[in-house]
Amino acid sequence: MTAYTPMIQQYLAIKEGARDAILFFRLGDFYEMFFDDAINASRELEITLTGREGGGEKKIPMCGVPYHSAEGYIARLIEKGFKVAICEQVEDPSAAKGVVRREIIRVVTPGTVMESKSLAEKANNFIVSVSELGEVYGVAACDLTTGELYVTSFAAAAESLADEINVYHPSEIVGDAAVLERLRAAASGWNRPVLFTDREPMADELLRRQFGQLELESLAPARHRAVSLLTGYLDETQKRSLGHVRRISVYEPNQFMILDPFTRRNLELTETVRDRSKKGSLLWLLDRTRTSMGARLLRRWIDKPLLSKAQIDERLEAVEQLYLSFILRDELRGELGEIYDLERLVGRVAYGSANGRDLNALKTSLQHVPALTALCADSESATLRKLVAGLDDCSDLAGMIGTVIVDEPPVSVREGGLIRAGYDGHLDELREASVNGKRWLAELERKEREATGIKSLKIGYNKVFGYYLEVSKANIGSLPEGRYERKQTLANAERYVTPELKEKETLILEAEDKMVDLEYAKFVELRDHLTAHLHRLQKLAEVIAALDAYQSLATVSGERRYVKPNVTEGYDFVAAEGRHPVVEAVMEGAAFIANETKLVKDGSSMLLITGPNMAGKSTYMRQVALISIMAQIGCFVPAKQAEVPLVDRIFTRIGAADDLIGGQSTFMVEMKDIQVMTEKATAQSLVIIDELGRGTSTGEGMAIAQAVIEYVHHEVGCKALVSTHFHELAHLGDTLPHLANACMAVQETGDNVTFLRKLVPGAAGTSYGIYCAQLAGLPGSIIKRAYSLLDVHELRETAAAAAELPYAAAALESGAAAAYNGSGTAAGRTGDLARQATDTAVAAETAAAY
Ligand code: ADP
Repeated sequence: MTAYTPMIQQYLAIKEGARDAILFFRLGDFYEMFFDDAINASRELEITLTGREGGGEKKIPMCGVPYHSAEGYIARLIEKGFKVAICEQVEDPSAAKGVVRREIIRVVTPGTVMESKSLAEKANNFIVSVSELGEVYGVAACDLTTGELYVTSFAAAAESLADEINVYHPSEIVGDAAVLERLRAAASGWNRPVLFTDREPMADELLRRQFGQLELESLAPARHRAVSLLTGYLDETQKRSLGHVRRISVYEPNQFMILDPFTRRNLELTETVRDRSKKGSLLWLLDRTRTSMGARLLRRWIDKPLLSKAQIDERLEAVEQLYLSFILRDELRGELGEIYDLERLVGRVAYGSANGRDLNALKTSLQHVPALTALCADSESATLRKLVAGLDDCSDLAGMIGTVIVDEPPVSVREGGLIRAGYDGHLDELREASVNGKRWLAELERKEREATGIKSLKIGYNKVFGYYLEVSKANIGSLPEGRYERKQTLANAERYVTPELKEKETLILEAEDKMVDLEYAKFVELRDHLTAHLHRLQKLAEVIAALDAYQSLATVSGERRYVKPNVTEGYDFVAAEGRHPVVEAVMEGAAFIANETKLVKDGSSMLLITGPNMAGKSTYMRQVALISIMAQIGCFVPAKQAEVPLVDRIFTRIGAADDLIGGQSTFMVEMKDIQVMTEKATAQSLVIIDELGRGTSTGEGMAIAQAVIEYVHHEVGCKALVSTHFHELAHLGDTLPHLANACMAVQETGDNVTFLRKLVPGAAGTSYGIYCAQLAGLPGSIIKRAYSLLDVHELRETAAAAAELPYAAAALESGAAAAYNGSGTAAGRTGDLARQATDTAVAAETAAAY
């Protein structure tokens, strides 16, 4: 250890404080990495690994990046799930005795990036904390770029925790070690990298300083702890005051519809299953926002559908008025289009990273607020009027920025040129001095040209020699001996100075230095002033985001001819001519076939949907779920008319490409989902199961499917849509009073099958799986053979079905087996039987041939 040079010793001491991060160690114009950090970073960033003598026996592995392009490299490391600790020189190297003092000034982590390169504009970047106290989990979520902070708590249960955390799509989770350990297992199925860090809560004294006693007082213990864990981590990594994170938004989990991670994914609420892109998701369809804050809010709305009829109706009212008044909507959209991302601008102000251009963006945005407010205040919508009533438009802040900052400030805040003339007397004087100095130089140039007769003589400046007179080689002969003092020789010119020039130079440069310093001071003064008013700007940003989200929903609803749903606290779900919003939207020219839905208490609340693959079953089932969600976020719905009850939770079990999660089998995953459903579903829930019972043997699959259907029917009593390829299950409709059979109509003409995409009562006769195989181009002999085998199986199963047991004694009367054989259940059944008759001979023949 002692063998290392003082600088490497310093490095190692600092590295001790950032063991879980890659340390960017500032050395002049570079950030250098050493030892393992260098090995890892060079690999991840594909930069050259070199070595450096450091006093030890071997060279120390080293790699580096230029400081001015560091942001891109940091972003790449963060994206890969690393933390990066930035270590700067904190004293002037020329003034330093020995090794320059260095300190970590910030640790950048996936959940705390502030640099726009690493951030998606239209999505929040949440860091989440979890606490465990007693039998309660606390969850807090913060977006450092906007200052939002949410907190909640609930009875400790692993699924609830996963459900709650997933709402935030966090990139990083901190908290109590034990809970994190449990979460880590669950997160393996999340399909995106999440960084876990366990930490202790922060000292109460510091926490109070951040939020004030009042904000903290009312927090339940687990929530308090979650906030403390999160704030502690932010404090530790950011190492600066976070003036924009002052308000804690507390909510109860039962304020929102519960959607488990799979359901969110299956319904493609914010991203598609196939390529995880926004395009093709519900969010993509509904997002017609004009501001990034509106886009982020809309995403949060979709992530958290409401459960209060009053709140939903309030949103629907605003959407309706904007839907009805195209002019209002259009004007609002126009104004919103001029508004920058206030929330993140505010974040940058608080963070101390806002520059002159950011402040001007803030000013420009604020200048559009009065027009926005007036539009809302004069509108027919009570919701919009309430939203802007008494709204503080922060015009004083806009005015102030306007007086201080020039119209087109430079990117840098440390090089001057950003404070308006007339704002500060002293600054104006310095500027005057500098201008006078420059004028003097111009005069000198003119005089010297005249005196020497050298037309090309000019005055120049560089950092090393300051101001000089330059004469080209060709003209040196005309220069009177001893007129100037030679300073520098170039290939084709000589540079000179005079005592007078040097004297003026000192004055000019001093004035410029002072000017730059003073400009910076004035800028910081303004930024600090704004920091003191952040809460006002945040409130305003919230209102603008809501306006934008309303107009977005109204715009889509108008364009796609959606209707206002009648949201009820009752049970019945009735939709006339319902459509799947996204499938309809991407079909372009082709017509989407609308379908009815009627799931009611006094009638059928469950639908068992049979029908061939590709008939439109899962589209239909998702459509029902999406109509529920759209209604509960306050959007119009794709239907001609809709009565939508508040749904507390949607369960979906929709098998697709991504069934192999954490090495579990498809069937096991399905059963676990069903287990959670049986435990959590209430009568107000909506259950959707696609292809129930697949993934195991036919007999078992069918048995489990029947048992699950019966359970939902008898024990849960919720609205449910179940599709199955076991069309034999259709007999259940006869014994379960609230279960109705339905199928997707198919038209058969000769050997051809046409999907009509129309939901009709009754069960389908055959699954057409073999027909699909034929369409896919399998050899004719396989197809023929498959048809024959199918017939043999069906004959066998008919006999077996006779031994079937009814669920309850009451069902004995009608007899499940009889229902199964009943021809009334199956539209296509007769045709089937006919084919069976003619094909039996073929079957025997084929069997012999094999
Ligand atoms: P299934 O679940 O029965 O296998 P899907 O719901 O996946 O069938 O539907 C298959 C395809 O049919 C979908 O990709 C969609 O493009 C189309 N489709 C489904 N429903 C409709 C409809 N109502 N109108 C028009 N096309 C539809």
